[in-house]
Formats: sequence, structure tokens, C-alpha cells
Amino acid sequence: MTKAKSKPGDAPVLFEVRQSSIHGRGVFALKRISKGQRIIEYLGERITPEEGEARYDDDASDHPHVLLFTVDETTVIDGGVNGNEAIYVNHSCAPNCEAVNDDGHIFIEALRTIKPGDELTFDYALERPGEFQMEWKEQYLCRCGARTCRGTMLALPK
Ligand SMILES: [Zn+2]
Repeated sequence: MTKAKSKPGDAPVLFEVRQSSIHGRGVFALKRISKGQRIIEYLGERITPEEGEARYDDDASDHPHVLLFTVDETTVIDGGVNGNEAIYVNHSCAPNCEAVNDDGHIFIEALRTIKPGDELTFDYALERPGEFQMEWKEQYLCRCGARTCRGTMLALPK
């Protein structure tokens, strides 16, 4: 169990990382979090989508792309390199948080009031370069358990 680092004078620790029933480790609120509150920045190395694609071999691992956060057409953030606790926030199709792009910086913010003990989630809406392939859906299977679950962590083609 890792608590987010906090120094004297910092805001109180909002969350902790521990085992999740959705997938692996998850991020759980320790305090009440208000709607719209900024919780954590998604940090990591900034690379091109092509570098990201090359870095994570999709046919070799379970959830290869989940560490990559798409900022825009030319930039993805690789949370696997110099990342922080934000990489443990799980996907849900009915999330309580959203990822907000503030001038190229990605912040996880509360979509509604979150109670202590609630797991923080946002909709990954993962994107991969190239034409959408049906087998990707299987590769990025979603087990969030929401009634509105779309069955995949990928953004579906429009
Ligand atoms: Zn789902």
C-alpha cells in the first residue's frame, strides 16, 4: 500500500493506491473530493504516438496501451516512464472522474462528489493509430461492471 507523497504544508493526501476489484491496483479516495476538484496530473515521458506504438508491442502483452495517454495528434504521455500514481487510476465506462487537457497537461478531475473509500476511475477512451480492428476490442476488454459498459477500454469509432 503506497500513500501519495505529501510534504508539510501540502494539501492533505486525497487518495491511496491499493488492490482493486476492477484491475490490479487502483486509486481510492481517502477524503471527500468535491465535484470539479483537480486530483492529480498524469505525468510521464512525452513521446509521439508512433514511438508509443513501437514501445508497447500489442501482440505481446495484455494491456499494452493503457500507460499511454493521448494529448493530441503529435503527443502521447508514457506513464510507464517517470510517471506517478495517476497510472493506477482504473478505467470505467461509468467513471467518477475525467481527464482534462489543460494546455497540454492532463489532470484527473472529479466529475461528481466522491466519498472516502470510493475507487477513482475515468474513461480511458484509448486510441490507436491506424484503422480500427475488431480484435482490439477483445485485447482491451473492459470489466468495469457498469450497466452502461461498452465492453472495451478503447474509444469506439464514430
Ligand atoms: Zn466498461
